[in-house]
Amino acid sequence: MIVLDVAVPVPLNKTFYYLPPKCVDPKNIIGKRVKVPFGKRILTGYAITCLYLEEDPSLKLKHIVEVIDDEVLINNETIELADYISKNYICSLGEAYSSIIPISMQPPKKISKKTKDVLELSYKRYHLNAQQRKAVSTISMNLDKNYYSVFLVHGVTASGKTEVYINAMEHALNHNKNAIMLIPEISLTPQFMDIMTKRFGSKIGVWHSGITNVEKYKLFHKTKTEEVKIILGTRSAIFAPFKKLGVIIIDEEHEHTYKQEQKPFYDAREIAKWKGKYHNAVVIFGSATPSLETYRDAQEKKICLIELSERVDKKELPEVKIISLKERLFKTSLLLPETIDSISKTLARKEQIIVFLNRRGYSPVIMCKKCNTVYQCSKCSISMTFHRNPDLAKCHYCGEIKHLPLVCSVCKTIGVTVFGIGTQKVEYELKGLFKNAKIFRLDGDAVSSVKKTYATAYTGVKNEEYDILLGTQMITKGFDFPRVSLVCIIDADTSLYLPGFKSAERTFQLITQAAGRSGRGDIKGSAIVQTSNPMHYAIEHAKNHDFVSFYNIEIEQRKRMFYPPYCDIAKIVVRNKNEQKVDEDSESLFTFLKALNDSYDVGLKLLGPAPAYIAKLNNTYRRYIIIKGERKKILHFVKFLKDFKQPSGTFVGVEIMPSDLL
Ligand SMILES: [Zn+2]
Ligand SMILES: [Zn+2]
Repeated sequence: MIVLDVAVPVPLNKTFYYLPPKCVDPKNIIGKRVKVPFGKRILTGYAITCLYLEEDPSLKLKHIVEVIDDEVLINNETIELADYISKNYICSLGEAYSSIIPISMQPPKKISKKTKDVLELSYKRYHLNAQQRKAVSTISMNLDKNYYSVFLVHGVTASGKTEVYINAMEHALNHNKNAIMLIPEISLTPQFMDIMTKRFGSKIGVWHSGITNVEKYKLFHKTKTEEVKIILGTRSAIFAPFKKLGVIIIDEEHEHTYKQEQKPFYDAREIAKWKGKYHNAVVIFGSATPSLETYRDAQEKKICLIELSERVDKKELPEVKIISLKERLFKTSLLLPETIDSISKTLARKEQIIVFLNRRGYSPVIMCKKCNTVYQCSKCSISMTFHRNPDLAKCHYCGEIKHLPLVCSVCKTIGVTVFGIGTQKVEYELKGLFKNAKIFRLDGDAVSSVKKTYATAYTGVKNEEYDILLGTQMITKGFDFPRVSLVCIIDADTSLYLPGFKSAERTFQLITQAAGRSGRGDIKGSAIVQTSNPMHYAIEHAKNHDFVSFYNIEIEQRKRMFYPPYCDIAKIVVRNKNEQKVDEDSESLFTFLKALNDSYDVGLKLLGPAPAYIAKLNNTYRRYIIIKGERKKILHFVKFLKDFKQPSGTFVGVEIMPSDLL
């Protein structure tokens, strides 16, 4: 009998045999997604191949319920890539396939075969400066030779990296090859579409979480048939199934959004390198604040460094002013007098302002007004955030929402005071101070209809319908508004003392990137940073736009503390709903792993078990065990996990190369 070998996205390290549906030629199922009975459920799986088996009734094989796709979606590259993902990020083949070819993708009723005319728009070619020209010619040379090569374009903010990307993509297209360009946030899509459509017309397809399942399927099809030649998108766009890739660009490569934070925990930067090798393509990482890992690779000549050290048209970098919050922490206003003064002067000049605070809601702490007990989420070990209009207490981690008034669990008093600042409170203050200013707030709360809100923010600020753009980190990345001449960072400390090894790096990046939104047009820009730690090296070097000095200090710290890039990391997460059990089980797992590590002389470093930064999340307690060492050894070592007898109710997961240890 002929059976199909199907990869099902479940955490079991094997594939499964199914019989073809009656009257369907098994060969016509290979490479397509299929619906299969799995236990009591019907799941979507991937039919990898078919094979002949001796008739054996004891096997009790089930039939495939439905073949989802008309066309073949899995090719040789998919098979090799799925294998790579499953081995390097520790997941099943089925789970790996599900990240490359989304389960949710849905064939349209009918695929229109008619290709629309590709529109070529007239494009005002920018004059490249000497540094940009050199960058483009180096990249093009490698493209011409079909060399797999990786570049880091380290360019200060507004140094014209995008123009270098566009030229590289154009070069690839001229040689009949395709391009993938990744951006870190969906909010940047309207801006990049705007720029890229002017150059490439309708040859571009956009891929992110905001497009429908049918749109995704159509785009997949158009990519394969080259009806679309460039894919612009967020992390998962890296899987665009082009047959002839010439260039892959990862803009703002330092962003942690390129690392998927659920299974499979793939890193789009690593996938880009894999694909680059597979297609003999050029991979370009770009950033004003490269990650320590990438910059070190460049220092060690593992990848090629291209520096763009000046802004286009010799524009000046914004002057960054540090204002100490130290003595003024508990004053009523969160905007210091110098900040208010700068905002009002900027408004008077009819220029625009970006105000950044990495905390949404009104106030991050709600306290009993009598005994000062902090209101924690009932499901998580974190305080609830106060939100206004409507007045609610929200947990930013599990999404729990409570109505006010809250009753104190300790003294039973009704009534609360709130403490600390969030974007809503800043908006409230700004509105009070600057009655005529038009303010747009862009943060996780404002974004209910994703696509629309981003587009409104982008076009609204661009067309100067708004004076102030206020928001969380989504407004600090890559936006290019020529009339913004002032950037205010309300509290630079929010990221500084998080207990992760990347906290200083993140803070440096946030300040540099946020400040970099200022003075990109013809007006000279400035930035204000409010902080309680004006002397911290991350803040000092961000003030001077001095990446290299920051890097030199930070890389020494990493070396001393044995953190990436000096080692690779795996994070083992032990979860249980019972706090005592999670402690016991994580201890015994640690002892088990430690004994293995010692007796086989593996030479890895094991730390823990320790409570996660949010020790209890959604009623589940979490403990971490950290493994440090060489990636190859780690991947080999974590295979022992399956020999650990997992007590019931305890779940053990492993994340390879987490973006941080929070
Ligand atoms: Zn919660
Ligand atoms: Zn109380």
